[in-house]
Order: sequence, then C-alpha cells, then structure tokens
Amino acid sequence: MSTLQGFTIPKTQTAAVVKSIGAPLEVQTDHPVKQAADLKPGECLVHISHTGVCHTDLHAKQGDWPVKPMNPLIGGHEGVGIIVAIGENTPNSPVKLGDRVGIKWMADSCLNCEFCRRGFEMNCPEVKLSGYTVDGTFSEYVVSYTNHVTPIPKELDSAGAASILCAGVTTYKALKVSNTKVGDWVALPGAGGGLGHLAVQYAKAMGLKVIAIDTGAAKEKLVKSLGADAWVDFKTSKDIVADIKAATGGLGPHAALVTAASQTGYTQAVKYLREGGTLVCVGMPDAEMGANVFWTVFKSIRIQGSYVGTRQDAVEALDIAAAGKVKVTFEQKGLDALKDVYEDLEAGKIAGRVVLEVSKQ
Ligand code: NAD
Ligand code: ZN
Repeated sequence: MSTLQGFTIPKTQTAAVVKSIGAPLEVQTDHPVKQAADLKPGECLVHISHTGVCHTDLHAKQGDWPVKPMNPLIGGHEGVGIIVAIGENTPNSPVKLGDRVGIKWMADSCLNCEFCRRGFEMNCPEVKLSGYTVDGTFSEYVVSYTNHVTPIPKELDSAGAASILCAGVTTYKALKVSNTKVGDWVALPGAGGGLGHLAVQYAKAMGLKVIAIDTGAAKEKLVKSLGADAWVDFKTSKDIVADIKAATGGLGPHAALVTAASQTGYTQAVKYLREGGTLVCVGMPDAEMGANVFWTVFKSIRIQGSYVGTRQDAVEALDIAAAGKVKVTFEQKGLDALKDVYEDLEAGKIAGRVVLEVSKQ
C-alpha cells in the first residue's frame, strides 16, 4: 500500500448515513475511515472536497426502485477529491497518489465480461454502484477503484466539475444515442433540473434546437439563459402536445430526452414526437411507460433506454465542460444541509443542482 506523502488519514470522519430504507438521514462525525493498509488491490481512498446531489440519491434514500440499495448507506455519486492512498499490489493503476479524480455512479466493473468488452460497463454483472451498492460521496473519505475513477481536467474547479460526473455524463451520453444531427429539435422534459439543465447545454453544443419543458419562473429563466430555443411549462400549458409541436413548426421534435422522474413525461413524448423520432429514457420513476403501441408503430418511433455512461463518455463530458461549452449551475451548501436538499428535490424546488462542500482543501 502507499499513502500520499505528508498526509495522515484520520480514523474517523463526518458522513451522512441512512440506516434503513425510509429512515431519517444522520450526519455522523465518528464514522470509521478505511485505513490504507486495509485497502484491497485496485482500491483507492479519495479525500472528497465536493459532491453533487442527484435525484437518484433521493430514490436511494427512499428505496423506491425495484432494485434496493444496501443499508446502512452513504449516498452520493458526483464526488471530486484527491487520491490519498492506493491498495497494495494494485496492478497498472491509471491514476496515482495526489491525483484529483471524480467518482461516478458506476464505481467499478470487471472490465472482462461481454458487457464491459462491448462498452456496456454499467451492465456488468459485477458492477458496483457508488451510493447504492457501495458507500458513496456524502462522506469525507470514500473507497473507490483505480480503474474507474475519472481524472478531472485542470481547467475545472472541483465544485464545478462534480455534477458533470453523473448529470453531465448521463445527458451527454443520452444525446449521443438520440439519433439526432445538427439542426434537429430535441424536447427536454425535466430541463430545469440537475440533469436537464446540462442536457440543454450539451444539446446546444451539439448544434441541436432545444424545447425545454419544466415548470416555474426560476427554471424558465435558467433554461432560457442557457440557450433553450423554446419553453413549455408543463403545469400551465393547456395542451402540452400541441404546444410542443407548434414550437417545432408543427411536426414535433426529432427526439425527446426525458429526465423528469415522472410517467407523464414519457406518455406525452410518444404523442408529440415527429415520425421517425427517438424517445430517450433517462428519468427513472418505477412506472410503466404508457407508450401507445399503435402510435409507436405508426409513427416509427424508436424507444431507447440510456443509463449513465462509460469511462470514455465521462472523459468526453468533462472535456466539453473544460472547454467552457457546458457549465453546471449550482448552489453550494454544507453536508449538514443534505436533509433539506432532499426535501427541496422532492418538491421540485431546485433549479439546476446543489453541490455540497464536504471538506475544505
Ligand atoms: P431533478 O429533480 O433535479 O430534475 C427533475 C426535473 O423534472 C425537475 O426540474 C422537475 O420540475 C421536472 N419535472 C417533473 N415532472 C415533469 C413533467 N411531467 N414534465 C416536465 N418536467 C417535469 O432530478 P435529476 O437529478 O435531474 O434526476 C432526474 C431523474 O433522472 C431521476 O429519476 C434520476 O434518478 C434519473 N437519473 C437517471 C440516470 C440514468 O443513467 N438514466 C442518471 C442520473 C439520474
Ligand atoms: Zn446521478
């Protein structure tokens, strides 16, 4: 094992823990830290400075998905920090002590199975998920995996980079599989949220025209400032399908990328999509999609699930942000604010993201 020179790893740390599904969040100041000598080959210890809060963390806390999280659980999967230790006998580590790296939802995969070989690392039977099946980034020290942590480009500060690691990479990848080309229209239900406001920016960077769909003045202002070409408020619109079609000149958008965690976001998409259009499923309510079969066939609609992104997608999403084309809009808070952040997320009150400063570095 090796430890960053001059750095002393403490025995305990502050961490936000959910003891069981539905239990209140507890910020503990005496949570144990895995010591360098206890790291397994391939593991690294990351000293976290910042982490984003994703709606997925709320799903994990509430246990409202059919695949249940582990408990007790430390959530969080948009973390940035410094590698302070690497397990002994780690072969060919692509990162070294002192590197500033990001921790994604996909914490680790075997890299040898058919899915890993085909670029579906997230579907590896041995996949480890940060803040779901292994402890995540709502703590000062996180055990992660040298093969999967993502180097952070020097142009990005840690607070600004954090949410690229889930919200950014996920929407960037979803746009890649949306079957669109320069000048096409993409509808973004959920556009004012964490994923959505980055989808607006990646879509503009790819030369697409954007219809942002969400609700309220704050989200309208945000998405318009990020370059959305049209805005539809899903709560005040009298006929959302007609409004979206009208915004595209009548035929409807070429693709819809749904980041709303709501069934209606999906049901409506099949109705307003243009013939030959693609519905990219990203938001994850535990619900049936409700896509009408007749219209799906008759309009030659393609329905495509898109689940986070690969190591390469993460590098690309960060590079685009480092080039200044995408910027996370966030409010920074402390780890002890997480409970309130969950309440605001549930109430749909957060325009953009909240990023937590976990430790000062
Ligand atoms: P968020 O709460 O920040 O944003 C969701 C937005 O959807 C909110 O602004 C809300 O007002 C809006 N919304 C709700 N109902 C709507 C409707 N009917 N039409 C239009 N907009 C609507 O959440 P987030 O962090 O962006 O995450 C969104 C979802 O994406 C969650 O379900 C999360 O688990 C999922 N997710 C999926 C992946 C993936 O790999 N596919 C990755 C990360 C997150
Ligand atoms: Zn996420």
